[in-house]
Amino acid sequence: MNANLRDEALSYFASFSPGHEANLHAYFSPGRVNLIGEHLDYNGGYVFPTALTLGTLLLVAPRNDRRVRFASTTFAQVHEVSLDDLSYQKDHDYANYPIGVLAAFQDRGFELQGMDILFASDLPAGSGLSSSASIEVGTALAVNDIFQCGLAMRELVIMAQQVENQFIGVSCGIMDQFAVGMGKKDHAMLLDCETLAVSYHPLTDPDYVFVIANTNYPRKLSESKYNERREECDRSFAILRDHFPDARALAHIPMEAWPEVESLLKDATLIKRTRHVLFEQARTKASATYLQAGDYRAFGEAMNASHRSLQDDFEVTGYALDALAESASLVEGCLGSRMTGAGFGGCTVSLVHKQKVADFERLVAKRYQDLTGLSASFYLTSLGQGAKRVEL
Ligand code: ADP
Ligand code: MG
Repeated sequence: MNANLRDEALSYFASFSPGHEANLHAYFSPGRVNLIGEHLDYNGGYVFPTALTLGTLLLVAPRNDRRVRFASTTFAQVHEVSLDDLSYQKDHDYANYPIGVLAAFQDRGFELQGMDILFASDLPAGSGLSSSASIEVGTALAVNDIFQCGLAMRELVIMAQQVENQFIGVSCGIMDQFAVGMGKKDHAMLLDCETLAVSYHPLTDPDYVFVIANTNYPRKLSESKYNERREECDRSFAILRDHFPDARALAHIPMEAWPEVESLLKDATLIKRTRHVLFEQARTKASATYLQAGDYRAFGEAMNASHRSLQDDFEVTGYALDALAESASLVEGCLGSRMTGAGFGGCTVSLVHKQKVADFERLVAKRYQDLTGLSASFYLTSLGQGAKRVEL
């Protein structure tokens, strides 16, 4: 955890909740980036994310009453609720995420007590690095630890996804919460989103790093288009399922069956969406073996192919993400670049030679600005550990 973040959090906490310093619990919950395998989690496929070293530091002081107070160094408003009324309320804004988690513990029969909770984050909120899963899983870990509920991290991860789906009303797949909760330092994780089986793949070449760049373009269409894509994938699978009885989800249909799939689907839009899913799935599985074998060039090419597929077939990029990925791929020392997350804004991830990172940031920033008039941000982060308790 970054020392500046700790100092910022402690000084903020001292004014938010004076007198509780002696009885403070601290947890660090990372963000995540998906290296490859986009829009596959809700299609029953494999994804290849990693937890980051950027994330959210939670400071929690238990109280002797049934009040819960929330503060954030990112959002000015302090929110306060009673454990006897943990309902979703629009006015509660960001506090709805942790309120949903507290409600989920109570629904499972756990007895809680009041708390003061501070979120301090060096992760950009709402940029596709899963700040929402970071605060959900962080809150679940804190509650589980402080009140000795005895749930395993996997259960907390599933609980956090249910909160986002049912309490917040965002129909995300399991990838975000899983990567945030189950990440392993210096490793990416190949996750089967159907069974939650996971294998960890080390990043072995010290010369290459992943660089995250933010378009700083608002994700306006994100929610409606996300739901539209899910619905299109469901329609494809409804047409195909009888012809592929072994496939329990769209991503299970093998790429080799493409000619048959194409002729069955007929509809041009469904053909494009499904082509992305089937080929992205094959690329994702191959990418894990490339990383394992240290074949960074092949990994980079797969990232570029993934972006093109998301641009042309799945149509979830938009001019800002396209300009950022294209600017990156022109820089010497960058082996590959792609959008990450749901799309329509948010971030790209690029595989860059360590000695070229400064050039990369300068050249990409310039070209992106020329193309779009927007200024990009870059984050220094590496492959981090999943959510954990920390000592301050
Ligand atoms: P993403 O998960 O991609 O960052 P979301 O739109 O899913 O974007 O979640 C962003 C929301 O999560 C914010 O609008 C806010 O409500 C909440 N959030 C994120 N980070 C923090 C933080 N540090 N403090 C409080 N709430 C946060
Ligand atoms: Mg989110």
